[in-house]
Amino acid sequence: MLDADPDPAPCPSTLPRFSGRCAVVTGAARGIGRAIAVALAREGCDLVLGDILADLPDGTPYPKATADDFQTTVNAVQAEGVRCIALKVDVARAEEAAILIRRAEDSFGRLDFLIANAGMSIEGPITEMRPETFETVVRANLNGVFNVLSPALKVMTEVGRGRVVAIGSGVSKHGEKEAAPYVAAKSGLAGLCKTAALEAAKSGVTVNVVLPGPVDTPMMSSQERFQQAVPDKSNPTREDYLEANKDATPMGLAWVTPEDIASAVLFLLSDEARFISGETLGVDAADSANWS
Ligand code: NAD
Repeated sequence: MLDADPDPAPCPSTLPRFSGRCAVVTGAARGIGRAIAVALAREGCDLVLGDILADLPDGTPYPKATADDFQTTVNAVQAEGVRCIALKVDVARAEEAAILIRRAEDSFGRLDFLIANAGMSIEGPITEMRPETFETVVRANLNGVFNVLSPALKVMTEVGRGRVVAIGSGVSKHGEKEAAPYVAAKSGLAGLCKTAALEAAKSGVTVNVVLPGPVDTPMMSSQERFQQAVPDKSNPTREDYLEANKDATPMGLAWVTPEDIASAVLFLLSDEARFISGETLGVDAADSANWS
């Protein structure tokens, strides 16, 4: 007789945290969305990823994401050994956004997590802004969250299991010049998610918002932004920008990293956070301590 079971059950603690689960992540071609997708893949989570890529409306003061960017995310995710579907969708269009949720159910048979991360900004003073521009930005950042949240909550509340995290912004706590539609949408998103948290509460589904401060992503690192921050130098570099902004946060950082945002998201998706719902969590090197 053998001393040990020859075919022992796998020890649960050695399995990745989210093995066998399925997440939808929007805006996953690059930046924060990519960091969240890769962090989830490392935890064994299958993924449905969405991004608008080059169909992002014109007027953003930074380059649009490309198909190569999206492929880089897919490669990084697949290297972790999980299943992944990548779809080109505009979350501002309800029928396209709903496809992401349907694909999770159809292809993986479940939906555990929704990370509503997609967002964009077109800047300018309120007095100069065309109503169409205001509407475009609100539709992407606010309707874009509603359009995935609504079908996802329906699935999650029916099965009595699920977690939603939306990516808001620290600017919703204090406003920001020349970013009116973005600030309005991100503020609205916080109210939308609190309401969703209440409506989903009885089913055990949680809904929370992460509020990044400034993060090192393509949205933040355009030449135009560098020039605004360092007006006295022609063609300032990324290093010039970082030096000029080193006191931008109380912790003395110009930016936090996309991985810092992903860590907060993973915590809110974890079993440890099961009774945290309707919350906003700043990840901003203490910036929000100035405002809240
Ligand atoms: P990013 O531009 O690098 O990435 C955003 C991604 O979302 C892009 O790939 C873009 O193509 C996609 N996207 C935009 N609109 C979309 C739409 N309608 N449908 C589908 N995909 C769409 O920006 P990021 O910094 O990674 O931003 C991610 C989220 O974090 C956004 O919601 C942004 O508002 C928020 N945020 C960023 C910062 C920052 O400092 N970078 C700060 C606060 C909040």
